[in-house]
Amino acid sequence: MKALRLEALGQAAQLADVDSPTVRPSDVLIDVATASLSAADVAFQQTPIDESQAQPGVLPITLGRYFAGTVVEVGSAVQNCAVGDVVVTAPPGSCGSCHPCLTGMDNYCINPRAKTRLVPGISRDGGLAQQVAAPERLVLSVGGLSPQEAAPASDFGLAAYHAIRVARTMLAPGNHAVVIGGNAKARYAMGILAEGIGCRVIAVTDDVAALKSHRTCYAETILDSADANAEVIRDLVGGWGVDGVLDFVGTEASSAFAGSAATQGGAIVVAGTGGGFVPIGAGRLNRNGSARYVEGGSRGDLREVLDLLDNTKITVDHTTTSLDSVVNAKDIDPDDVPVVVIP
Ligand SMILES: [Zn+2]
Repeated sequence: MKALRLEALGQAAQLADVDSPTVRPSDVLIDVATASLSAADVAFQQTPIDESQAQPGVLPITLGRYFAGTVVEVGSAVQNCAVGDVVVTAPPGSCGSCHPCLTGMDNYCINPRAKTRLVPGISRDGGLAQQVAAPERLVLSVGGLSPQEAAPASDFGLAAYHAIRVARTMLAPGNHAVVIGGNAKARYAMGILAEGIGCRVIAVTDDVAALKSHRTCYAETILDSADANAEVIRDLVGGWGVDGVLDFVGTEASSAFAGSAATQGGAIVVAGTGGGFVPIGAGRLNRNGSARYVEGGSRGDLREVLDLLDNTKITVDHTTTSLDSVVNAKDIDPDDVPVVVIP
């Protein structure tokens, strides 16, 4: 079968003919309908590798952390998947027995080995291939979504949903939310906030034209980041500021703006990795405000966001391409516009 193989860190991956994956007792074998190119798939081909990315545990490896497709074989110990099920990548591994895992926050699992053990595209062959074997625990049903919708949603949609969920008490219908950034996670967040909850969304981006060019943009107002400041936000919404700020950029400038834009008691969530920080303390953050930094999401978050996207028909533009055309994927930024690969 065809697979996108990485021989060494920092080298461009190559298309290769390889054997079908070996199915372990707890695995399901999946005919890949679509893979969604991830930041890690690109970072592994760059030198030096981005420190924010996990390193691949084995080399050579077939890339592809995010994918969706049909189960065609199940291992002898598989209990909850059957041949014919259409499944999508679930969040990283977790131990299932630490306190965060036991309380449903498996993405906060404190067992580091469990996070990467047997994760396709990280520590075993991934889904940028015609077939992939994955532990049953690391896949979920796509529900009513198509594989083409579900694969990018399992990466970018999940991260957006988790960021919103941790600030959910401040994000009631009719409340104002600022979303900083125009990338894929930010655009999923705008859709979930506007269509899923009923928030009034103000987008802040350094490329207004790019955000407007997408077929769907769920922001009520779009501001150029050069023009956005606390006074402009207060003029837009009245009062002290907005109820929630979701920063999918995370630079020093964006997180400082996030801190200034929130109302008293407002929730600030930084999901970008640009190295910024939100100042907290008297005179620095509006009273009773909160600030969180988040990454990814839990299995429960993924179930909820897949169902939400299905029920609301929220869509985020993506590019569709073939396995052959992502051979030199190091020049592509999938965080900007999701790249859906049909192997
Ligand atoms: Zn755990």
